[in-house]
Amino acid sequence: MSTTDNNNINNTGVSSLGNCSDMRHYNDYGDLKELIRSSGLKFDMARIDKAYRYAYEAHKDQRRVSGLPYILHPVSVAYILVGLGMDTDSIIAALLHDVVEDTEITLDEISKDFGSDIALLIDGLTKLAKIKYSNREEQQAENLRKMLIAMSNDIRVIIIKLADRLHNMRTIECMREQKRRDIALETMEVYAPIAHRLGITAVKEEMEDLSLRYLDPVGYAEIEAELNKTAGDRESFIADLKAEILDRSRDVIDDIYISGRVKSIHSIYRKTFMKGKTIDEIYDIFAVRVIVNTMTDCYNVLGIIHDIYKPIPNRFKDYISTPKPNMYQSLHTTVISHRGIPFEVQIRTWDMHHTAEYGIAAHWKYKAGVGGKDGDSLDEHLSWVRKILETQKDSVDATDLVSTIKTDLNPNEVFVFTPKGDVINLPAGSTVIDLAYAIHSAVGNSMVGAKVDRRIVPIDYPLKTGEIVEILTQKEAQGPKRDWLKIVRTSEARSKIRSWFKKERREENIAEGKAEFERELKKNGINIPENELEDFLKKVNLKIQVNTLDDFYAAIGYGGIQLWKIMPRIRDLYQKLYVKPNTEYVPPVPAEAPKRKKVGSGVIVEGMDDVLIKFSRCCNPVPGDDIIGFITRGYGVSIHNRNCKNVPRDITSAEEPDRWVSAHWEHSVREVFQTSLEIIGMDRTGFLADVSNQLSAMHIMIRTLNCRELPDGMAIINVTIDVTDTGHLKTVIARLNTISGITSVTRK
Ligand code: MN
Repeated sequence: MSTTDNNNINNTGVSSLGNCSDMRHYNDYGDLKELIRSSGLKFDMARIDKAYRYAYEAHKDQRRVSGLPYILHPVSVAYILVGLGMDTDSIIAALLHDVVEDTEITLDEISKDFGSDIALLIDGLTKLAKIKYSNREEQQAENLRKMLIAMSNDIRVIIIKLADRLHNMRTIECMREQKRRDIALETMEVYAPIAHRLGITAVKEEMEDLSLRYLDPVGYAEIEAELNKTAGDRESFIADLKAEILDRSRDVIDDIYISGRVKSIHSIYRKTFMKGKTIDEIYDIFAVRVIVNTMTDCYNVLGIIHDIYKPIPNRFKDYISTPKPNMYQSLHTTVISHRGIPFEVQIRTWDMHHTAEYGIAAHWKYKAGVGGKDGDSLDEHLSWVRKILETQKDSVDATDLVSTIKTDLNPNEVFVFTPKGDVINLPAGSTVIDLAYAIHSAVGNSMVGAKVDRRIVPIDYPLKTGEIVEILTQKEAQGPKRDWLKIVRTSEARSKIRSWFKKERREENIAEGKAEFERELKKNGINIPENELEDFLKKVNLKIQVNTLDDFYAAIGYGGIQLWKIMPRIRDLYQKLYVKPNTEYVPPVPAEAPKRKKVGSGVIVEGMDDVLIKFSRCCNPVPGDDIIGFITRGYGVSIHNRNCKNVPRDITSAEEPDRWVSAHWEHSVREVFQTSLEIIGMDRTGFLADVSNQLSAMHIMIRTLNCRELPDGMAIINVTIDVTDTGHLKTVIARLNTISGITSVTRK
């Protein structure tokens, strides 16, 4: 008797359980025939009838745990497969899938009666059914390996197996509790990821929701209750959206289908419990799906939707031009409804929709219906399986395979084991520190090291799927290190570390924050008298409540205030309040110096006319530089050099990416620009004079000039000058380099 099927006739505990014998979970042969008729696809009904009679006879005396006739199970599995668009052979194999395993009939007999193709499918399924699930890794590895091999031989084996597992999950209520949890865990960890990788979303989502119900019944019930509470509101909300979109697209798009839905409980669960968000913080609980006939219409609909509702920046994803690895295609965007509720919109064609829902199975639909082969896309699906098997060919260790397959199934996550065998999953790239904090903040805070597969690893060790990780803790541990904030990957770990520092180390935070702030001020040439500093900071919009200077330093210390974010504001305010005609040495303006033109800044900011432009002082960009604009709060757009340290390397993952705008130089405008140079050379008599003479000789306007001694007999001159572009600047630097004793001239 198969151990993965809930077909053992075992009544323990059944009486207390709910509705597993509910006929809504089953389909009889009449239902199946009706679905086949209405599917519009071609099936060989004579062969299907024969298989049904055969299976009916074979299972005649058997019952499910629920007490219902056993035959209802294979028929229900076949029903799921017709829904997925699978072919006659798959339906027959589904009807017969437990016959060899659970009755006297042999594979040879099946082969004689239904042909070798069907016999091969059943053989594959029977072999899969023999695998016992166990928490032990090697068992699981063997399980996966067999599935992969079956997949590469005939992918239909896996699709039938998925349908079989899905039906067992629907009727799992009849099992004993421990068994339910075991099966649910295996479904969540192995079967749902395979369904996902094959793009069979409908099956994947149902499996995840069903599994979650048994793996975390409390969490599941909580979300379900929350959703039920708001069900009425939600329905009217979605009805309004549909009406608004339909109304606007009627004249433009011929044929449009709109449906609204709530995301699966499992996906809400992941976002609430695993990412620590509350239900109202999740943007895409509501999803509206728009299906049209052509790809052009997809983009038209997108335009209409962005016109009706305000899009949330950086939530737009074009999976039409760049499909996901499982061939999923759609446009995704998140917009804000007129009621202020954000919702996600998915836009796709019917073809894309079938691929999205049924994945690889969708390609069978065409094959069966039209008779043509959809070989290319099938091969694409299968190449993934083959690749894994190939890389594993020489490997004797089956657990390697588990790592490979699991990582490949979900590249954004890693699964690791605690020494007790608990599975913890984390975002890819997570370190042992992330794991420690995922277990408990107390574990993280008392962590002194970690072992991976029984070997000590560095604290920034990135975890890989399948590893067994032990966190080493000590009661008298000193607590987290500040450096950890730069190492950790998860926001959970980061915020737990910050809150530790906030609570435990105020004095240290103040000292650390003060030192860091002073360094930063010095670097920026900002000099504010100590007794004015507190008042000055009150004028800077800091976003978090800071009452005293110590609060401010402490916040820098524990990371609540990030200096790189506020320094531009501090610099601006400092310029406004302190930098009037200042005490720096400003040489007299030469008579022939060109006047700074007032018209135009020489910069064009994309999508903005007539905008106030200013050049940031951190990098003083000059024409020819690659530049970018930053929309300041109330001071127009500040232009930075692309290489400036204040420009994030990757704008899309920056804190406020939508405030960065593209900008370029307007070539027609000749203007002068300020730039700063640092000149280092031997501190000899006349060094400063030589530099300023050389600049005057080139008719360079000097804005500021400072000179100071360096300890080793050298001197450093900081000079701010006007140049017209990078070419001009190069000439200036080259000329300065000819002065005797100069060792370097660099732009700051
Ligand atoms: Mn079965």
